[in-house]
Amino acid sequence: MQRKPGENTRAVHLPDPPQPVERAVGQAVWRSATFEFDDAQSYADVLGDRRRGYSYSRIDNPTVDAFAAGVAALEGANLDHEVRGQAFASGMAAITGALMALTRQGAHVVASNALYGGTYSLLNGLLARFGVETDFVDITDLDQVRSAMRPTTAVVYAETLANPTMVVADLPELAEIAHDAGARLVVDSTFASPVVCRPLEHGADLVIHSATKYIGGHSDVTGGVVAGRQELVDTIRAVRVDTGGSLAPDDAFLLRRGLETLPLRVRRQNATAMVYAATIARHAGVTRVDYPGLTEHPGHDVARRLFDSGPEGTRFGAIVTVTPEGGYDAGMRFADGLGLVKVAASLGGTHTMVSHVASTTHRQLDETQLKAAGIDPGAVRISVGLEDAEDLIADTLRSLDQI
Ligand SMILES: *Cc1c(COP(=O)(O)O)cnc(C)c1O
Repeated sequence: MQRKPGENTRAVHLPDPPQPVERAVGQAVWRSATFEFDDAQSYADVLGDRRRGYSYSRIDNPTVDAFAAGVAALEGANLDHEVRGQAFASGMAAITGALMALTRQGAHVVASNALYGGTYSLLNGLLARFGVETDFVDITDLDQVRSAMRPTTAVVYAETLANPTMVVADLPELAEIAHDAGARLVVDSTFASPVVCRPLEHGADLVIHSATKYIGGHSDVTGGVVAGRQELVDTIRAVRVDTGGSLAPDDAFLLRRGLETLPLRVRRQNATAMVYAATIARHAGVTRVDYPGLTEHPGHDVARRLFDSGPEGTRFGAIVTVTPEGGYDAGMRFADGLGLVKVAASLGGTHTMVSHVASTTHRQLDETQLKAAGIDPGAVRISVGLEDAEDLIADTLRSLDQI
C-alpha cells in the first residue's frame, strides 16, 4: 500500500494551479527564486546557456525580463535594429554592470565632470582601484573631450541632462568622437527618460536609467536598467549574473507597470515644468533658473535638436534648478519655506521634491569647486511632479517672497 504523505510533505507539495489559457492583461509576477525542469538534461542545457529558459532568478526571471524588454522597446522604438535590455536592482548596479563589462585593467574612461555622485565615486574610487583610469572633462567642450581620448579609451560616459545645471550632452558629437577612437558612448539618461530623449537614436551604444526615478515614477521602488544591442547587453548580463545585482520580481512588476503611464506622466510633468520655470525666472529675488526649455539656457539649442518628439512645450524634462539671491542660506530658507513641495532625495515621482544642491547632492564640493562647476551655493533643484502647476507656482512664489 502506498504511504500517505505526512502533513509537512502535503503542505510543501500543494497542487499546481492551472496554467490559464487566457493571457493575463496585468503582468504576472513570477515570484520564484527557482524553476523546475522536465528532466535533468533540460536543467543542464538552460544553465549552460545552450537553451533559453529560466533556472534561477538571480540569473533570469520572466517578470524582470518583461520589464527590461519594455524599456528596450521604448528606447529602440525608432531604430531599425533590435534593442535589448538588462534590469538591475538599482541604477548604480546598472552603471556598475555596464562599466565593468566594457572596461578591464588598464582601460581608460573619459567622463563628464558633472556626473551623478555615485557614478563619480565608482569611477574615481572603486574602478580606479582595479586599474581603470578616468579623466573627467567638461562634456560640452568637445575639444576637451577629443584631447582627453587615448588609444586605451574604452568608454566615453555622459549624462543626457546633468544635475543640477541641466547641461545637455551633444550625443551625436560625442558618439562620433568615441567611435573614431574605437570607444563606446555610454549615456545615463535618467533625468530625461525615454520620453524626452532616446540616446541610442543619437549614436549612443548603451543607455542607462535609474528606474527609481521617472520609470517607477511613484517613489516606491528602486531599480536600474541598461539597453543597447544584444552583443553588448549580453556582456552586461554576464557581469550581473556574477556580481548579483539582479532586480527582484515584485520590483520589476512595479517598474513595468510604471512604463505604461510613463509618457502621460512625463509629458504632463514637462508641461508643468516649462510654465513653472518661465514664471519663477521672472521673480525679482531669483538670480538664475536652469531649465533647457528656456531660450537663455546654454543647452537650449542642443536640447531642441535632440529632444525632438511630442508637442511643443512638453519636450525639455521636468527638473528645474532655481537659484534665489543670497547664497547658501537663502537656498536653505527657500527649500524650507516650500509647503507643498517635499524636502526629499530622488526625483521623477508624482510628488514635487526639492533638494538644496550645495548641502545634499553636491555636499562634497567646497565653494571653489562649486564655482568651477557653475553651481551657486544657493541653487535648489526642483523635481516637478504631477500637482497642478498653479499650486506649485503659488507655493514657490510665496516661499521666495519670504526669503
Ligand atoms: C539616482 C541616479 C542614479 C543612481 O540610481 P539608484 O537607483 O539610486 O542606484 C544614477 N544616475 C542618476 C542621474 C541618478 O539620478
